[in-house]
Amino acid sequence: MTTRLGWAASLLAPVLMVSCAPPPSQYTPRQQVDPQVMAEVDSIQAIDNHAHPVRVVGEGEKDADYDALPVALMEAYDSGPLRERADNPELTGAWRALFGFRHEDMSAESVRQALELKKQAKKDKGDRYPAWVLDEMKIGVMLANRVSMGRGLDPARFKWVPYGDALMYPLNNDGLGRRDPDRKAFFGAETRLLKRLLGEAGASGVPATLEEYLKFVTATLERWKGQGAVAVKLEMAYLRSFDVGNPGRAEVEKTYAAFVQSGSPGDGEYKALQDFLFRHIAREAGRLGMPLHLHSSAGAGRYFDIPGANPTLLTAVIEDPAMKGVTFVLVHGGWPFVKETTAMLAIPNVYADFSGQNLLLYPRALAETIRGWLEYAPEKVLYASDSSPWDERIDWEESGWLADRTSREALGLALTGMLRDREITRERAADLARMVLRGNAGRVYGSGRWAVAGGQ
Ligand SMILES: [Zn+2]
Repeated sequence: MTTRLGWAASLLAPVLMVSCAPPPSQYTPRQQVDPQVMAEVDSIQAIDNHAHPVRVVGEGEKDADYDALPVALMEAYDSGPLRERADNPELTGAWRALFGFRHEDMSAESVRQALELKKQAKKDKGDRYPAWVLDEMKIGVMLANRVSMGRGLDPARFKWVPYGDALMYPLNNDGLGRRDPDRKAFFGAETRLLKRLLGEAGASGVPATLEEYLKFVTATLERWKGQGAVAVKLEMAYLRSFDVGNPGRAEVEKTYAAFVQSGSPGDGEYKALQDFLFRHIAREAGRLGMPLHLHSSAGAGRYFDIPGANPTLLTAVIEDPAMKGVTFVLVHGGWPFVKETTAMLAIPNVYADFSGQNLLLYPRALAETIRGWLEYAPEKVLYASDSSPWDERIDWEESGWLADRTSREALGLALTGMLRDREITRERAADLARMVLRGNAGRVYGSGRWAVAGGQ
């Protein structure tokens, strides 16, 4: 799931430039970055910690696996962060950079031309198109958060991060869906995904005992690992709060046995079972060497539980000695609780990326987040784009291009500020750029063996 709030407005509103925004050609925050620092940042082949690339599809075919809970499932509403609206004229920069588009507006005729150019590029590149997009953005390796991988997503360039949420909700989910229309759609999708995972494991239904269910969960994580997964993603913040307790096994075994066949558990007893399963998934992912990715940001839609996504709610479970072997990655860096995230970066097994923030915020504001983290725990900060499809015009390439550009400009601004305030030397600025763009991820994923042509 992206952090993006609604795109409905852009579909309803006339396709015009946002009148208060400057023409894209005047939008040049990188002019304020020290030129040497900017050149350094621009030269580095990145490891992108989080994104939703789309596989290559044939005529009339659609890719539905780029997200377990796509924004399209949600109730349409007519507002969203300004910069994430699909009529943001900055996005035309992606068309110019990638496809040779010559305009700066999004009139119907210009959009038609852009889509035609994009279609031609896809035709020319064929199955190499996704890797070509990475080359254009100077991304060496992109972690692909998808339900499954597919055509054109070359395993040398795209590393799989499957979704583990469905594993946390094995009982009747109708009660959880009753909270609001978005959760109704989400829990419907998770229930279907669990069925798919059970089918893939050769099971005809949810196992009768918790013991067998835990074995199925472990076997699923092992299967993913065998298929090349490098991490496991939970977007639980869309489904429930981060407040994970530590219930006893006997208690949750009783709940599982009572409701596995029929009936609906009460919210409290079901939450305890979910908490227990979260801990099992985290421990097993840790044992298998797969970091746990947690969507940590205020998210899309009108019903998102913002206080429930405060990453400090996770402190109790993360600091449990039983979780020592688990690496937790706060995807989106906890926005808007970015200072809370700063404090959490002091916990040895916690990392954060700034994906999502690079589309919600302009470079100046993102630079403040990045600088705060770099001044506190520089080896814990990860570059990520959250590239993802927005609508029929703006796909993962365009959102990814804007996110990448914003990220590099913001990192440049943060490092320039630190340099001018005499906090760091030029050499250290170059070190920090390499750490954020790829070195820190290298440590998290042991990616020394991820060979990419032209990488450094
Ligand atoms: Zn995402």
